[in-house]
Amino acid sequence: METFAQLGIPFPLYEAPIKEASDYAGKTTCGVCGNHDQPYFILNIGCALMVSCPKCDVLNGLDANDRQDTPCRSCGNEIKFSTPSNDDGVHICYSCLREGKGAITKDTEFGMVSWEQAIEGRTHGVPGLQTSEFETVTTDPDGEWIGVLLPQEHLFELLRTPTFVTWQGEVWLFCCKKPMTYIGEWKSVAASLGKAEAKNKFDQMMTDDARSYPWVWEGVSSESDSVCLYVFQCKDCGNHRANFDMD
Ligand SMILES: [Zn+2]
Ligand SMILES: [Zn+2]
Ligand SMILES: [Zn+2]
Repeated sequence: METFAQLGIPFPLYEAPIKEASDYAGKTTCGVCGNHDQPYFILNIGCALMVSCPKCDVLNGLDANDRQDTPCRSCGNEIKFSTPSNDDGVHICYSCLREGKGAITKDTEFGMVSWEQAIEGRTHGVPGLQTSEFETVTTDPDGEWIGVLLPQEHLFELLRTPTFVTWQGEVWLFCCKKPMTYIGEWKSVAASLGKAEAKNKFDQMMTDDARSYPWVWEGVSSESDSVCLYVFQCKDCGNHRANFDMD
């Protein structure tokens, strides 16, 4: 199955087959740079165009779905939404996305990450989050929501990465203090493995999730398609982790 790397447009955090990416749409003229015949991604709900304020030069995210002029978060100067868009959203080419001119918001195990969180260097958080591997911070006045502190560069990298198709929304995983690389649905990952090898890999991945483990294995190893397992790999330590969706 074809990957972005094979097309010459690699993503460090996305090595899964292209057909699993929800925002890739083929080739067109980029709305941001105007270059023709570029591989492109659609920015829409939850995405932003990243623009420096013409007055104070501070980086701002403009909502790619509303596409309204927006006051600068620093000086209040109105920043024009001048990028051409289409019915389905703003078309952004690979180069512009990788240069950080667009941001694709991600949901993660530590809460949402959009451009605001990337600038603050933390995830939006989830209620009552507990983790020993990461430094945490409260993210609401009541102290219930706990986010994780992460370097800006890792969070921005996540926003410059395509989203994968899921039934109920992606939940990106982390390891070694950074986002893991999405390598695909279990079916495509396990396709190259023998039966025993596949079971072995599954056992390693699911150590965090012992409770749901037997029926998840049943779901992914049968033809029923009742469970969809999304697999990540840490490029630092090589570990695999996964989470799943049920229909
Ligand atoms: Zn472009
Ligand atoms: Zn400004
Ligand atoms: Zn790791």
